[in-house]
Amino acid sequence: MSAEPAPGPVPAAPVSVEDSTASRGTASTRPGSSVPELTVSGVSKVYRARGQGRRKVAAVDDVSFAIAPGAAVGLVGASGSGKSTLARLITGSERPTAGSITFGPADIGKLRARGLRNLHHQVQMVFQDPYGALNPLHTVEYTVSRPCQNFLRMSAGQARRRVGDLLETVGLVPASQFAAKLPHQLSGGQRQRVLIARALACEPGLIVADEPVSMLDVSLRAGVLDLLAELRRERGLSLLYITHDLLSARVVTDELLVLYQGRIVERGPTRQVLQHPQHSYTVRLLDAVANPLAASASAAAASVTATPSPATPSPSTDRGRS
Ligand code: ADP
Ligand code: MG
Repeated sequence: MSAEPAPGPVPAAPVSVEDSTASRGTASTRPGSSVPELTVSGVSKVYRARGQGRRKVAAVDDVSFAIAPGAAVGLVGASGSGKSTLARLITGSERPTAGSITFGPADIGKLRARGLRNLHHQVQMVFQDPYGALNPLHTVEYTVSRPCQNFLRMSAGQARRRVGDLLETVGLVPASQFAAKLPHQLSGGQRQRVLIARALACEPGLIVADEPVSMLDVSLRAGVLDLLAELRRERGLSLLYITHDLLSARVVTDELLVLYQGRIVERGPTRQVLQHPQHSYTVRLLDAVANPLAASASAAAASVTATPSPATPSPSTDRGRS
């Protein structure tokens, strides 16, 4: 992969997304909300490259941002730019090599079993693949009711009643019909709605949605994106929406972070970044999605596929479990 005019990282000092003047005081921040703030400070994640001896790659490299209570932030970048790694760090399934991530009082990188369980109550993930994320043998009711029983300590009867409410919330109506269905009886969009209902069942404060519509038919994408936007508005949830598609971020987010080779190269209010992108990488990402049928756009898409930079060797600092 050719080294594109290497986009330089944005200034190193931790900058809260909500610090941007354009977003201050908008509906994205909710004073008095019970949802904690997420802060990511100087976070890096170094992996040992697969099949390449002792070479290390920095999948995430000195990333800092914050998500205010109730805000919706988009994390955009080409494949390999480090988006899913950052999602795994935020949801506590991996630990950072350096830096810290906090959600309210919880220091996510240091949580042990009970702390992680509490975190999973509050921070829920919606995955890219609605096919792989559902057990083919479990009915919709079973899938959505489990978190109600596990996290909210509801009885089976209480959980069943709540499943009905949750399915209606995500647009699977009549709920009684959907409750008994198995995953193979649902469309991709319906499966993703089941996964969103399962995430909501825990009453989370933050949802991390990693490319939630990229495996869906184009015709189903807008419905799922509208649902995420509506849930976030109505429930005061914070949202980290991860995508390679800058235009889809317009529907769901107030703020954008553009990730290139594990580093944030541009950030700002969504509208501003889309209308006046400052960084050449952002421009190329936009070209790639705005003209998907044009040959030049394919070339652009290929050229922005990110390759992580070799990391500074520091074996002793890598606490990762991967
Ligand atoms: P994205 O989600 O933006 O496509 P990822 O976070 O999946 O990017 O990957 C970022 C980089 O880190 C890629 O080069 C990928 O190969 C590498 N990477 C991710 N997970 C691992 C792992 N467990 N071991 C080694 N390298 C990894
Ligand atoms: Mg990914």
